[in-house]
Amino acid sequence: MVTGIHTGRQATAAPVSPYAIELRGVSKAFGPVQANKDISIRVRRGTIHGIIGENGAGKSTLMSILYGFYKADAGEILIGGQPTAIPDSQAAIRAGIGMVFQHFKLVPNFTVLENIILGVEEGRLLRPSLSKARGALKQLAADYELDVDPDAVVEELSVGHQQRVEILKALYRQADILILDEPTGVLTPAEADHLFRILRGLRDQGKTVILITHKLREIMEITDEVSVMRRGTMVATVDTATTSPEHLAELMVGRKVLLRVDKVPATPGKPVLEVENLCVTDASGVQRLKNVSLQVRAGEILGIAGVAGNGQTELLQVLGGTQRATGTLRLNGADLPLSGSACNGQARRAAGVAHVPEDRHEEGLILDFTAWENVAFGYHHAPEYQKNALMMDNDALRRDTEAKIARFDVRPANCWLPAKSFSGGNQQKIVVAREIERNPDLLLVGQPTRGVDIGAIEFIHQQIVALRDAGKAVLLVSVELDEILGLSDRVIVMFDGRIMGERVAADTNERELGLMMAGMGGTP
Ligand code: ADP
Ligand code: MG
Repeated sequence: MVTGIHTGRQATAAPVSPYAIELRGVSKAFGPVQANKDISIRVRRGTIHGIIGENGAGKSTLMSILYGFYKADAGEILIGGQPTAIPDSQAAIRAGIGMVFQHFKLVPNFTVLENIILGVEEGRLLRPSLSKARGALKQLAADYELDVDPDAVVEELSVGHQQRVEILKALYRQADILILDEPTGVLTPAEADHLFRILRGLRDQGKTVILITHKLREIMEITDEVSVMRRGTMVATVDTATTSPEHLAELMVGRKVLLRVDKVPATPGKPVLEVENLCVTDASGVQRLKNVSLQVRAGEILGIAGVAGNGQTELLQVLGGTQRATGTLRLNGADLPLSGSACNGQARRAAGVAHVPEDRHEEGLILDFTAWENVAFGYHHAPEYQKNALMMDNDALRRDTEAKIARFDVRPANCWLPAKSFSGGNQQKIVVAREIERNPDLLLVGQPTRGVDIGAIEFIHQQIVALRDAGKAVLLVSVELDEILGLSDRVIVMFDGRIMGERVAADTNERELGLMMAGMGGTP
């Protein structure tokens, strides 16, 4: 508990602070990067307080300072009104702070119960604390809709349940203040709804919740107050009830942003991509794609929705030529091979398929190479880049890159910098510029805005729509339902390697798609 700080002199004691947490003038630099600059924030007790900001704004750093992972260069932390030093996470736990990480820190082959008591075992004997924990767990589960089987092995639980174990773990350590860093990124919409019910329950019992997210919708739905960070600074703290997504977006980016995708209805033409009965079995014998058949027409965007890991990655790889499959694939009516040596990324590009891969670091860029080399990547055999039979025309390539960098507003506008020194959003602009500007018949695009700032999201979305309006076919894979619904003309939901169902984007909604993503309610 953090409230037992006023001893004696009850009658004249100052009232307990209304703030669970207060940070004053907190700064933290990593080398030349000033991750947090003179941050002050007050979090009211018994509220859900959102912290929103673009990638790299400094949210996780600030919370890591609060949890004792990083030491601030300057500033002060007050817990329940009392200045408190938090040199390590044990001190944070003692101060009543619990943290649910972006990447869970559970021991996969231990049971739920074992994970929960790990680190707080009493004495050397596990057994008494196990039975005590079992009772406590039951109570917590009942109080907060946090039901998980205490004897289940963690690695066999769904991500949503693993997250509940993380929350239980914090509550078992008597956390009064719970910090969640981007908790919904790994959840289905139904799991996210459940998490929000849990968080409301915690607040209603008097606990304080800090929710870090870059999703405006979540902030609007669940928080009482929200603090906005931009480039290491705290820009504003506002009451959620009196703000709007547009206002928050403007605070995050520093200018007005169009949150909606602006597009006219599609006018689809002839089928560009036709696949039938695609099947993929991985090296360990697991079937990743199960008889997937679909079409994408000229001038339309087909969105593939689904929780990550339900076959979307394999589908993109098969279409991009980097993964073998059985079935048939036709582009503009002509058969393309799904196996053999003629099935590769180069051949697909030559046939008119461009590919913005899901993982830009693994597949989209060579991080140590310069921006201009990356713009050539995959297309360096194109005739316009050849000086003669033996030599590439590097000057032509650099000129071309400079033009693309200007058109796509890549910052910094320097084609000699290695790809790794651009931010995520600018790296993605480099990949998107390279692929879209080849003017392909079919654009495959995976998670185009993952880790990308909302300003850059607006721009990338506009480019994808422009390609559609130029009569090209687009196949979009995204785990963000907002993005799927905003961009797509038709939507297909994948679950367990199969197509669960198909909807016209304008006639469906997150709830319906969310059910299909969980394997329910589809009509194949
Ligand atoms: P957010 O959580 O808002 O996306 P972070 O707090 O993770 O932002 O990062 C803020 C800035 O600090 C970024 O520029 C990031 O690259 C940098 N940064 C974060 N952690 C480290 C670290 N351990 N070493 C060096 N730089 C870091
Ligand atoms: Mg973060």
